[in-house]
Amino acid sequence: MCGWTGFVKHCAPSAQRCDVHELAITQAILDTALRHAEQARVTSVHALYLRLGELSGLAPDSIQFYFDLLSKGTCAEGAQLHFERFSPRARCRVCGATRGLAFDTSAASAWSRRLGLLESCACGKSDFELEGGTGCFLDAMEAE
Ligand SMILES: [Zn+2]
Repeated sequence: MCGWTGFVKHCAPSAQRCDVHELAITQAILDTALRHAEQARVTSVHALYLRLGELSGLAPDSIQFYFDLLSKGTCAEGAQLHFERFSPRARCRVCGATRGLAFDTSAASAWSRRLGLLESCACGKSDFELEGGTGCFLDAMEAE
């Protein structure tokens, strides 16, 4: 349950749950942008710079599509979204040490397999879990 049922009505009846999820995330992005715009007293938002987790399951194209839909009539209407993707890290379940993973895919199962190929941790164990790499964050925006 995502808690954003108020926006479900925009979806086609056959829409899958992930569509609702993307719609909800997009609404949250828009709300955040509009709140910042109001605080900064700007009247027009041109671009949003977002960081998107590889494991978020979100597609940039979909988010831009929903954003265009939801932002109509607001000061962020027509804004271009820019995405920078970020990856999860590997965390040792034994000692808690983390390390970056040089890898590039949005398939969660591929990331899990990747963990099994890592060299042992400095503590001598090889028991890793993924940390981070989810969610979508608004870094900056261009406005006037
Ligand atoms: Zn360790």
